Amino acid sequence: MAATNADADRDVDVEADIDAEPPAKTHDRLRKCVDLLEGVYGLPKSRGSGPVDLLVQTILSQNTTSANTHRAFENLKRKYPDYQTLLDAPDEEVARQIRCGGLANIKTKRIKEALEKIRARGVREEWEVVVKGAERDEMARKAGKTGMINLDFLKDADPKEARDYLLTLPGVGPKTAAVVLLFAFKMPLLPVDTHVNRLSRRLGFVPEEASIDEAERILEEITPQDKYCSFHVNLIRHGRAVCKARSPSCDECVLRGICPYPDRAGQKG
Ligand code: SF4
Repeated sequence: MAATNADADRDVDVEADIDAEPPAKTHDRLRKCVDLLEGVYGLPKSRGSGPVDLLVQTILSQNTTSANTHRAFENLKRKYPDYQTLLDAPDEEVARQIRCGGLANIKTKRIKEALEKIRARGVREEWEVVVKGAERDEMARKAGKTGMINLDFLKDADPKEARDYLLTLPGVGPKTAAVVLLFAFKMPLLPVDTHVNRLSRRLGFVPEEASIDEAERILEEITPQDKYCSFHVNLIRHGRAVCKARSPSCDECVLRGICPYPDRAGQKG
């Protein structure tokens, strides 16, 4: 990928000491970063997946490529017409469907435990605290005798409470919770996966010493909310294609003009 805009972007001043950069400049660089990445990768398409599908996909994506995640998810959807059927199937059979994504036994266990917990919640009165009146009755009707394996009750919940609920599910960490809530319900949460974490530090948006939780908070603070999806998806694409973990291709990078990493790493401009 040629850095056609890189030289022109030199006009965005990158502070020699990025730690001393005024917040307004960090905001400018981040907005520039979003624009540049959209110029290369475009705006992310809507995934069109429901929240439970997103949850299952994100568990499947742990420690594997997106191609393998997609294959494993397609296998599950082909084999099981609904999540209750998946829950009723033997573990070994489910694991066979997702073998291509690795860690099949662990992921099967996590997926089934998470689905079971969601189902159990659907048949408990507890969920009445977030879903009320006619909507609750309609959801209970749809749930029928099998309980409710959906997360639609989170739609109007407070984002923090929704996140806390998802974090109680087995196999669900902060990144998975944020992915589900951002992409299914457009809640203002910014998932920090391994690529977002690495690139946002190299780009000087997050201090090296910050924890993942702190990184998430900082990025949510400095990224315009309507750009959370774009920033998240395109940073991942860029991390896979150009700013790789071991060997970032800074000379070919469209972000070079706004990134302090090459200078820090002693590369010539
Ligand atoms: S470290 Fe290099 S490859 Fe990564 S964003 Fe900065 S300039 Fe681009």
